[in-house]
Amino acid sequence: MSGERTLWNSAPEAGIGRTTYIPIPVGVTATGSDLEIGMHVLEGAKPGPKLAIVSTHHGDELFTAELTRRVVASLDPSDVAGTIYAIPVANPLAFEWGTRNTVQDGSNMNRVFPGNDRGWITEVMARVVTDSLLPNIDHLIDLHCGGTDTTIHYTYTRKESDELGRRIHQLAQLAGADVLWETAGPAGTLAGDAMDQGVVTVIVEAGGGTTFGTPLEERAMNGLLNIMKEIGMILGAPVVHRPRVVVRSGTALRPRHGGIFIPEIGFDALGGRFEKGTLFGRVVSARTMQEIDQIVAPYDKTEVMMVRDRTSKVHPGDYAYIVGDGDSGYQFDS
Ligand SMILES: [Zn+2]
Repeated sequence: MSGERTLWNSAPEAGIGRTTYIPIPVGVTATGSDLEIGMHVLEGAKPGPKLAIVSTHHGDELFTAELTRRVVASLDPSDVAGTIYAIPVANPLAFEWGTRNTVQDGSNMNRVFPGNDRGWITEVMARVVTDSLLPNIDHLIDLHCGGTDTTIHYTYTRKESDELGRRIHQLAQLAGADVLWETAGPAGTLAGDAMDQGVVTVIVEAGGGTTFGTPLEERAMNGLLNIMKEIGMILGAPVVHRPRVVVRSGTALRPRHGGIFIPEIGFDALGGRFEKGTLFGRVVSARTMQEIDQIVAPYDKTEVMMVRDRTSKVHPGDYAYIVGDGDSGYQFDS
């Protein structure tokens, strides 16, 4: 048995016109439990695109795990053209503890693709996701969201310098965010590897701890369905919330000192634009109770893409906000 690993490909076939649960075996944990990554294969009644929807490479990303479940549950396979491979939780070890990185090895799964079958456990999980998905798909939606104390909303897009870039940009505009970020993206991601293989890939950053029950929840759901409509998997007209701006540069705003973070702008500021110097949030020391840091808008046109919208504990260097430079890209005609 040494080194033997059965990929889902050799498991019983998914059935046409239904959704089949196919756990992807990873290995055995220290306590002797089977570690599996859950995948759901919805095989539509007609042939069509082969789309993967993957969430929660980061274990604190609850909203998009649940969004994945709701999207799959909302579809009747007999109305779908093509196949959907849905993985609600790509990193079950981190999800168990609600941490961004895997507890066992400290790794960020979103930096270790394509993975390594004899590497750290996070690299092994990345490897089995790669091997299970990439040979089988032509489209990918890579879902990310905020954690307990943060909410995010933007969509990555690509330069329209080739056909792949044009198709990605077209789909990114349907995902429901006000701000698109045109960038090659970080190395070591499933999305990056997929794009390198010509897979039309949309990286959606949507939602967070406070999103359930808000309009953002509906926009994120509609965004995923819009993409499926556009590529011909399901019928119906897209319900589009048009983006406002494309940025080509941006940054994370991180507190220099830790303590208690107090937001001055929050959920309602997502997708908005602020002048340079606008106070976004403050850090007070949990020991002295003095204000020890401020987070302010860095650009003349600061486009807000992620907010820390709850009063919350921060370590030095945690995400407080992600912002784009509104002068680095272009505006859509309104
Ligand atoms: Zn993420």
